[in-house]
Amino acid sequence: MTEPGKLARTAIPVPPLKPDEALVEIKGCGVCHTDISYYYMGVPTDQKPPLTLGHEISGVVVAGPAKILGKEVIIPAVMPCNDCDMCRAGRSNRCLGQKMPGNSLGIYGGFASHIPVPAVDLCVVGDRKGMPLEWASVIADAVTTPYQAALRGRIQAGDRVIVIGAAGGVGSFMTQIAKAMGAGTVIGIDINEQKLKMMEKYGADATINPKGKSIKEVREAVKACAKERNIPSNWGWKIFEVTGTKPGQELALALLSYVGTLVVVGYGTDQTQYMLSRLMAFDAEIIGTCGCPTAYYGDVLQMCIDGKIAMEPFVELRPMSQIEKVLHDAHHGLLSKRVILTPDF
Ligand SMILES: [Zn+2]
Ligand SMILES: [Zn+2]
Repeated sequence: MTEPGKLARTAIPVPPLKPDEALVEIKGCGVCHTDISYYYMGVPTDQKPPLTLGHEISGVVVAGPAKILGKEVIIPAVMPCNDCDMCRAGRSNRCLGQKMPGNSLGIYGGFASHIPVPAVDLCVVGDRKGMPLEWASVIADAVTTPYQAALRGRIQAGDRVIVIGAAGGVGSFMTQIAKAMGAGTVIGIDINEQKLKMMEKYGADATINPKGKSIKEVREAVKACAKERNIPSNWGWKIFEVTGTKPGQELALALLSYVGTLVVVGYGTDQTQYMLSRLMAFDAEIIGTCGCPTAYYGDVLQMCIDGKIAMEPFVELRPMSQIEKVLHDAHHGLLSKRVILTPDF
């Protein structure tokens, strides 16, 4: 067990801004599992500590290019270099020169009052129709990541979808987005019974709690769901694995079937075994997905503003001065919603 990191509140001077940079006054910063992995699990940040964690940020531009001065913005969790072959190839979300607040953007991150950032990729919020700007912070990762995953999985009207980890911080949005993008049937799988049941109101047509069930029993439950709906159980399912855990991935692989698609959304470090020839025999595919190109942020924001993706039941605001308790509670699974910290200093 790695020792948790050390937190300190400190003042750092605002650096001189380059012409293509903006200074954002932070209104909200979401607490993500990635922050927990840096703080508690010894996952290294690119910028060696001390640094400011936090990468799901919304706020107001208080200095920088005139075009965006005074505008409300979302800062993308990952900002590409926009000047490499991978970016030019349309795969900027995996750009190797990318910068992420709270990891690789120098010492700067979202658990702060202000942050200097590259201006070009900021997502201007516009008319948010009463949606609190703080909520928009989690769009920077928890909502855009599953959106890109849905694009990678080519979700179409009528699709049969399974989300593993459907009640989690990213998975709950994955479930909603799959449905909003036209999936015909979405089965949510999660071990958090209470949150899973709630997902039946937010995109999940059926739910399965795999706790205490063998993989075979879960597969039978999926089959039963399909039978009830008079849809095929053994082909064409698109499975989104959001947990990144070994049991989640093993279940996903076991559910992958004929002309099926497995999209790997979650991250973990365990090894999982699979007979790759099954992919050949099934004519199936496994797709990895990482982050989201900044160009799609506006579309995702609009889905949230229009209520196609519900935010209110899934987010909770807390003062940033409570960060230590929030990190602790997140680490120990005591939070039922994604916490957005708001600067109170
Ligand atoms: Zn994150
Ligand atoms: Zn690039």
